[in-house]
Amino acid sequence: MATQPSRPADDSADLARVVDLLAAQVVAQYVSAEQDLIAEVADYARRGLAAPVGSAARLDMLRRMQIAAHRVAAELRSRATPLARRVTDEARRSGAAAALRTLTRLTGAHPSLLRTLTAPQPEPVTAHALSSVITMRLDLQRNLEDAATRVTRFGDDAYRAAVARAAESEIMHGIAPAAAQRGAWDELTSQGITGFQDSRGRRWNLASYVEMATRTAVQRAYNEAHEARMAAAGISFFTVAPHAHPCPLCRPWEGRVLSSRYPSGETTTQSALSDVMVTFEVAGTVDQARAAGLFHPNCTHTLVPYLPGVTRMPPAPDWTSADERAYRDAQRLRTFERAVRAAKQREQAALTPSDRARARADVRKAQARVRAHVAATGLLRRPRREQLDLGNG
Ligand SMILES: [Zn+2]
Repeated sequence: MATQPSRPADDSADLARVVDLLAAQVVAQYVSAEQDLIAEVADYARRGLAAPVGSAARLDMLRRMQIAAHRVAAELRSRATPLARRVTDEARRSGAAAALRTLTRLTGAHPSLLRTLTAPQPEPVTAHALSSVITMRLDLQRNLEDAATRVTRFGDDAYRAAVARAAESEIMHGIAPAAAQRGAWDELTSQGITGFQDSRGRRWNLASYVEMATRTAVQRAYNEAHEARMAAAGISFFTVAPHAHPCPLCRPWEGRVLSSRYPSGETTTQSALSDVMVTFEVAGTVDQARAAGLFHPNCTHTLVPYLPGVTRMPPAPDWTSADERAYRDAQRLRTFERAVRAAKQREQAALTPSDRARARADVRKAQARVRAHVAATGLLRRPRREQLDLGNG
């Protein structure tokens, strides 16, 4: 019924789908390059370590590893610009399209809105939205280039770890392999290319760094275009809909009114559908909410138009202990999935048959942990996340 008050419904499922899709595409390229590089240096290590110390084959090992790392880094660096452009353009288009669908749905339900809103149009991009999308694209491009640059050091890291592994073998000679400590080589190959640190000091490996950078850029470009499209149609107020998978940073903004055109505090304005005046509270601007944590990395909230006198706010939900548990359970599953991938990587790059057998046993142990956690929590197991190439091979 056209006169029914509407409850806010957001585009979070669409945003989540776009973020997952684009991040998977970018991560796939970096992870497969990383896989190939690890396999290649493992091959040089097996051959180099089989040769006597001081032999030409041993000395050649470092040079070959360095050349391989530089080659892979150069390939990845050359892809940063086109990838960043494609990903942010796609995110921007998707955000604008989702906003257009939402506006069309609203004016379909409430035709009299067309008195105050500009009729939905395909793609008006404001100068502000365009310049922020360019900033996001350049940010992503720089992050992807930084990731590629870090790959160049992998040749030296691999050489040091391989030589350390050889020394361990000599020391451990005669001791059962099961008693051997996990050495530098195992550490290197299970973690992959590491050494990334973000502005908050958190440490990442190549895949998680590239994924974080891409997800952040996609989410920002999508939301920027989404908001700009709605603002261009004449939407002045927004809200954030309650979410199936909330997080503590976003919860405070759910159900509150945000506006970049009206000051914070009590606002009286005409109803979107009639001449009746309505009074409500503006909690702040979208930028203020963002600065306070809304739209943090991996957030899938999107803004919803708040139509004065029409949108009925759901009661602001509390962050319950069940929410907290669901959030932590999902985080723990990600940790267990990463452990499976790390063990598989170690297995693939193992330098000796006994190292490989040990890694294989670790893969099974890590998989058993995933199964037990999934069974205990009712979470959905996604085997793709346990694959070395994240299922993108
Ligand atoms: Zn959120």
